[in-house]
Formats: sequence, C-alpha cells, structure tokens
Amino acid sequence: MGTEEGATDITARQRARMVDEQLRARGIRDDRVLEAMTAIPREWFIGERYRRRAYADEAVPIDAGQTISQPWIVARMTELLAPRPGDRMLELGTGSGYQAAILAALGADVLSLERHAELAQQARERIASLDLPGSVEIRVADGSLGDPAGAPYDGIIVTAAAPAIPVELRDQLADGGRLVIPVGPRNRQILTLAVRHGNDWVETAHGACVFVPLIGPGGFPDERFDPFL
Ligand code: SAM
Repeated sequence: MGTEEGATDITARQRARMVDEQLRARGIRDDRVLEAMTAIPREWFIGERYRRRAYADEAVPIDAGQTISQPWIVARMTELLAPRPGDRMLELGTGSGYQAAILAALGADVLSLERHAELAQQARERIASLDLPGSVEIRVADGSLGDPAGAPYDGIIVTAAAPAIPVELRDQLADGGRLVIPVGPRNRQILTLAVRHGNDWVETAHGACVFVPLIGPGGFPDERFDPFL
C-alpha cells in the first residue's frame, strides 16, 4: 500500500511542477485548462519504455512511430479551442488519447479519429479507466477530411500537421466554432486558430510548432508509399 501511494504522490508532484513551470510560467492562463492538466495522469498515456519522460518538456514517442505532444502545446491548443461543458468536439489524431481526455475533463463530448487501430484501442482502454465529466468516442478512420456526417462541431482540433486548412474542416464548424490546426510543411508549422462567423473564417497565428503529419487527402501523402518523397 505504501508503495502505491508513494508512486501516486510522486506523479502528482511531478504534474503540479509541470503545470507551474512549463504551463503557468509560460503563459497558459486558463485556470480550467491548468486544473485539467493537474488532474489527468499523463503517465497513463505513455508506454512503459518512455513513461519516465511523461512530465518532460517535450513530445514523447508512443507506438506506431507517433508522439504524445509536449504538455505546453496540449495546453495551448486546448486554451485556443476553449471547450465548454457540453460542447461537441472533433479531434483528428487520437494518438495516446491524452488530448481527448483533457477535453473530456473540461466537459466536452469528443469524437476522436485515429488511423492506427492499435493506438485507438490503447487510448480507449486508458480513457475508460478515468471518470470524466465529458465523453470520448474513438474511431479508427482517416480523419484528414474530418467527419461530415457528425457536423457541425463546436470545435475541431487537429493534432497532426496539414499543409493547408482543408476546406472540409472549415465547413464542419458550427457558427462561432473554433478550429485549431498546425499548418505548414512537414518540418515546421504555425499553430493556427480559425473561428467561423457565418461564412467568414477569422484566422490567427499562434507561433511555430512541429507535429507528425496528418496523412490523407486533407494532409500529406503517406511517404512509405510514395517513392518520390
Ligand atoms: N492528440 C494525440 C495525443 O494526445 O497523444 C497526439 C497525436 S499525434 C501527434 C498525431 C496522430 O495523428 C497520430 O496518432 C497519427 O496516427 C494520427 N493521424 C495522422 N493522420 C491521420 C488521419 N488522416 N486520420 C486520423 N489520424 C491521423
């Protein structure tokens, strides 16, 4: 018993420190986001091999050659998305499931699409063990053009890089809805927020970032199958 409680105390301390030093000190202001990231155990979303890096200030490898994003970028994207309880959110790129868990901790109902079945299954199991106010459904699918059948969404978060904002994603936003997406070439992107006002989309840039590519018609070709890349 002592050992288990000790381990929990250690990760809770690491999490509190991450929130203070990496998030609050570097400009994350939304208290609800800070609380959610203080509450959700990030180490649950990382395989054993890299778990000791769960609270490091960096993206960490997960299975299928993918990554769980750096804590700061998760916080910033969540802050830009500004989910409210009951909002319907679409995430493209489930990865570890951590970002979806943060959105559900803020009360959003999330549909998250992932092209790798093994990541989707791991993420489902991890999220099922948490008691969250919002819901998370994870589907195995190419999400590069979003989910037209479920639209409109109050928010869409793309946690992989796209060369441009796919017009299909703009169209799947509700009026007033927010799209957060890293836009740019494979090696460096600009974190972009697009807010829909009727048939206008107001775009703002929120700094440089580096994400793994969104693969598919709304993103990049899968280079494993393209001999010219
Ligand atoms: N949000 C994740 C988390 O919290 O761990 C991190 C996502 S990771 C940086 C990007 C993910 O996007 C990868 O798991 C990758 O397989 C997925 N992905 C790339 N292209 C995709 C597509 N067209 N449809 C669905 N998922 C895709």
